[in-house]
Amino acid sequence: MSIKVAIAGIAGRMGRTLAEQVQRVDDLELIGGVERAGSPWLGQSIATGLSLSGATGSITQDLAALPAFDVLLDFTTTQSTLVHLETCLTRRAAMVIGTTGFMPNETMKIKQASKQITIVHAHNYSVGLTLLLDLVQQTSAKVGAEADVEILEWHHNQKVDAPSGTAYALLDAVKAGRQDAVGPSVHGREGLVGARPKGEIGLHAVRGGDIIGEHQVLFAMNGERIELTHRAASRANFAEGALRAARWGFASGAPGLFDMRDVLGLDRAASDGS
Ligand code: NAD
Repeated sequence: MSIKVAIAGIAGRMGRTLAEQVQRVDDLELIGGVERAGSPWLGQSIATGLSLSGATGSITQDLAALPAFDVLLDFTTTQSTLVHLETCLTRRAAMVIGTTGFMPNETMKIKQASKQITIVHAHNYSVGLTLLLDLVQQTSAKVGAEADVEILEWHHNQKVDAPSGTAYALLDAVKAGRQDAVGPSVHGREGLVGARPKGEIGLHAVRGGDIIGEHQVLFAMNGERIELTHRAASRANFAEGALRAARWGFASGAPGLFDMRDVLGLDRAASDGS
C-alpha cells in the first residue's frame, strides 16, 4: 500500500523537486497539488502543468478540495501553511512543514495542532546537514576547550545574508557540546588582530559563482585537526529528507511535533544540550 501525499506549493522550486522525487518512488503516491490564488498552474493536471509524465492528480487552490491524502508536504509561505494546517487537522492528515520564517505565535499554533496530528517541522530537511550538526556537537563535547573552532561556509554570489543560518546553527551545536563558557564569535579577521584568544569561534562567509552551499567546522588542536564538511549538490537533498520525514510521520501515526533528529533516530538529549 502506498502512502498518499499532497504537495502545497507544488509549482515552486521545492514543490517541483518534491513532485519529481515522489514520482520516482513506488511507496508514495502523489494525489494532487495546491497553488496560490492567481497561479497559472491552477486547474491543470500535474502531468501537463509540471511536465511530469505518469503523474496523476491536479493542481487546485483549495487543499480541502483534494481527494484523501495521508501526508501533506508544505513548502509555501507561513500564512498559507497555517491555512493548510486547519485542513490537515480536519482530515487528521500528517504534515511535513518545510516553510521557514514563522513568528513565535505562529509556531505555537503548529505546536497546538501537533496535539492532534503528526507534524514534522524542520528548518533544514537535509539528512547530511542534520547529521553534521549532530557530529559537530559530539565532537565539540569531546575535544572541549583544547580545540580552536572555526566555521566556514561557501555560497553562490546571489546570497544576500551572511553568515548563513546554517552557520549559526553550527555555532549553536559547537556551544551545546561545550561545558565551559565559550568566548565570542568573530566574523572574518583583518589587520593586526593579535594572537587568537582562547575560546574564540571564527565564522567566515565565502561568496562566489553558483555554489549551492558548503559548510565546514574546523577543530584545530596541537598536532592535529578535524574538519567536518557538508556539501550540497542540489535541492534534491531537502526533498529526499522531506520524503523520509513523510514516510516516518506516516509510520509513527502518533500526534506530536517532530524534526529531522526524530526522523533519523538521533539522541534528543544530545541536541538539547542536556
Ligand atoms: P518558491 O517561491 O519557489 O515556492 C513557493 C510556492 O508556494 C510557490 O509556487 C507559490 O506560488 C506557492 N504558494 C504561495 N502561497 C500559496 C498558497 N496560499 N497556497 C498554495 N501555494 C502557495 O519557494 P521555495 O524555494 O520552494 O521555498 C518555499 C519555502 O520552503 C520557503 O519558506 C523556504 O524557505 C522553505 N525551504 C525550506 C527548506 C527546508 O529544508 N526546510 C528547504 C528549501 C526551502
